[in-house]
Amino acid sequence: MKSSEDLRRILLRIDGKGYKAYKDCEGVYRFPDYTLMIDHVQGDPFASPSRVRIQIPMSTAGFPDDTYSSRSREIALRDFLTRRFYELADYYSRRRKGSGKSGIISIDRPGQEVLERTSCVVNSSFVEFRFVVGFPALGRRIISREAESIFFEKIPEIVKKAGFYRNLDSRKLYRHIEVNEDADFIRNMLGEMGLVGFVADGSILPRASGVDQRPLKKGKVVPFESPDTMRVKIELPNSGTISGMGIPAGVSLIVGGGYHGKSTLLRALQNGIYNHIPGDGREFVVTDATAVKIRAEDGRRVEKVNISPFINNLPFEKDTVRFSTDDASGSTSQAANIIEALEIGTKLIIIDEDTSATNFMIRDHRMQELVSKDREPITPFIDKVRLMYRDYGTSTIIALGGSGDYLDVADKVICMIEYLPHDFTERAKRIAENFKTGRIAEGGEKFGELSMRIPNPGSFDPSRGRRDVKITSKGLKSIVFGTHTIDLGAVEQLVDVSQTRAVGDAIYYSTRYMDGKTTLADIIRSVFADIEKQGLDVIGPKPVGDYAYFRPFELAGAINRLRTLVIT
Ligand code: ADP
Ligand code: MG
Repeated sequence: MKSSEDLRRILLRIDGKGYKAYKDCEGVYRFPDYTLMIDHVQGDPFASPSRVRIQIPMSTAGFPDDTYSSRSREIALRDFLTRRFYELADYYSRRRKGSGKSGIISIDRPGQEVLERTSCVVNSSFVEFRFVVGFPALGRRIISREAESIFFEKIPEIVKKAGFYRNLDSRKLYRHIEVNEDADFIRNMLGEMGLVGFVADGSILPRASGVDQRPLKKGKVVPFESPDTMRVKIELPNSGTISGMGIPAGVSLIVGGGYHGKSTLLRALQNGIYNHIPGDGREFVVTDATAVKIRAEDGRRVEKVNISPFINNLPFEKDTVRFSTDDASGSTSQAANIIEALEIGTKLIIIDEDTSATNFMIRDHRMQELVSKDREPITPFIDKVRLMYRDYGTSTIIALGGSGDYLDVADKVICMIEYLPHDFTERAKRIAENFKTGRIAEGGEKFGELSMRIPNPGSFDPSRGRRDVKITSKGLKSIVFGTHTIDLGAVEQLVDVSQTRAVGDAIYYSTRYMDGKTTLADIIRSVFADIEKQGLDVIGPKPVGDYAYFRPFELAGAINRLRTLVIT
């Protein structure tokens, strides 16, 4: 291993030279407190900044065992360190000189969620930060003085402040860890308590805006308060006993007048698959880890999905057992989205009327009279929602204000009034009793079979131009796989671009398990078994700092939306 002085000598030697000379810096260097790894140097000052890692021996970093003694704690610690590193890097790269990306020091930036990230890796031997540095240049001429200041002044400062336990705010760190562990604890307890979701009293659900996921602070913000009849208590490992609304397994409705907070509660629940940072307001809003938000998505491609539980007898005898289309309608796309989520094993479907196809959700009595069943291909969700729970144990939470017919099929009815929930279950039952809808159930005796689908490996081509594998994520909701763009706009539970990036690479990784005989569900299981054993790094060719954890559902969601996908 080279010494830090070797790096200094290289930098001095290449001062004023063309940018390519920076390539000489690639390598591993021993610094007094850590090892610096320059993995990849950018080709010019305007390209993506260079990839760098720092490894601090645990004996130097000094983190107590209990800051990473369980998976939950370890992820929270890594998240906390990434945030601290980000702040400091941002601060130290403010006064940067040179062209293009010169002088940038940056690490993956977490949002409101606490996600496993490859930006920081912790184990009993070391703490590793993975970040990027814009090697400085004026025009395309190397300015060594600036590079020296980055590697010998700024980065050592950042590392000391973000990577040494003794320099961190330990109370804040432990709070971060404990809140995360408590949220995981609640999620693990849900099943045992017969619940699919929990919303703690005092939670702040509304967000600052549609594009800002921080808590709403402006104006009157109403903290959540459970109806007495639905309140449950949970004793947490760290935060004492908390109370809140338990949403039982089965079929639950969130009703209420427009603008009274239905969608806000529902969105908090769909994001309850993730843990949130202290101060977020949703720290203890927790849902079943397999919850999937479903919406209509007209225009999407569907490849041989058995949507026959919902759709039959299409005009011109189009197959609905192996239903394919390049341009799904609102109702068929929503049906396919549900079936695909069931295929991967969801136990909770979350639906908002605002983003649903009306004719998929309901067919009322009058419409049943007007258009006979043999002329209507759609069996509406209302007729399958109970069967889905009975046959597959998959619960549903629906936010709706329009169709009272659903009162007949609900176990729980939560009414939002001025942002506060009320238990309207009994009242809803009385109304359902007194005002019969007259509709005829059309769902049959069973939900229907779920077919396991087998992807054809030949239908995945990640090549682009001269590259055999070229996968790029374009923002949060789009992956370009080879030359094909995957639109993830309707995959609402993707919340972080680093998840999207990881999903893109995981698609390619998953092809190693495709042999024309293995089902998509099994393939994805194998991918996650590898991730569990070897960490997120396994899905990519080299260790990178910008992967974040995603679920089987989001990976399947991306594969199912690849327009070239062929199911055998
Ligand atoms: P609905 O789906 O019932 O029509 P929304 O959930 O969209 O209503 O909420 C309407 C508005 O009220 C949103 O702008 C949201 O931010 C705000 N809001 C929701 N819950 C609260 C709350 N607890 N306190 C303050 N504002 C809230
Ligand atoms: Mg709404």
